[in-house]
Amino acid sequence: MTLPLLDPTRWRRVLCVLAHPDDAEYGLSAAVEQWTRAGIEVDYLLLTSGEAGMRRSPEEAGPLRAAEQRDACDAVGVRRLAILDHPDGVLEYGLPLRRDIARAIRESGPDAVITANFDVEAYGSLNQADHRAAGLATVDAARDAGNRWVFRDLLDEGLEPWQPALLLVAGAAEPTHAVEVDVRAERAAVRSLECHRAYLADLPGHPAPGEFIPELLRRGGAEAEAERAVTFRVFPLGGIAAEE
Ligand SMILES: [Zn+2]
Repeated sequence: MTLPLLDPTRWRRVLCVLAHPDDAEYGLSAAVEQWTRAGIEVDYLLLTSGEAGMRRSPEEAGPLRAAEQRDACDAVGVRRLAILDHPDGVLEYGLPLRRDIARAIRESGPDAVITANFDVEAYGSLNQADHRAAGLATVDAARDAGNRWVFRDLLDEGLEPWQPALLLVAGAAEPTHAVEVDVRAERAAVRSLECHRAYLADLPGHPAPGEFIPELLRRGGAEAEAERAVTFRVFPLGGIAAEE
């Protein structure tokens, strides 16, 4: 079956919620670049600074990875990057995490919220624990953000409810939609992953971004009768853009 293309023409803003620096850089950032070039604001919320993901100490790795993520954001036109201080490797699904994500959704006011695959099995193996917690919390927070009576302390912070129209899951095993991207977006996506220079240097078996990102996008394209595409599983949430 050919995946339908997602129509972002009425979107003004997108919020990507991910566990770690570099999580956006495995295909998603190609769609992000395509969107930012079309004038859509894309914000990133990272729940940890990925401080437990390198050989060097967390004290050194956290700021280094945050800086590499800032460069990766610049490569694809993302201006607003927020990194929370939840602990990397032991991220806990729970109300504090949901509240933090709901707060960010209300602050940003996105038409679409994007997270990444949070299945137990993902990417050809077992998924990482933080990815499961981050994705599940984002699904729930995307609804919490629109409910005035959930996390009422956010109202005290001056944050009125905001219901995003869509939730998108990147890297889903069974995608429902595709975003066609061009060669410029592909190159930007390769650059965005290459920005995680020190992190990738700690992963000697990691495939070269310039080889596997184009291959990933070609595979996505094959599902959508396009040359290159990023695929998503899309869930309508009933926000403003969905009602227009
Ligand atoms: Zn990750």
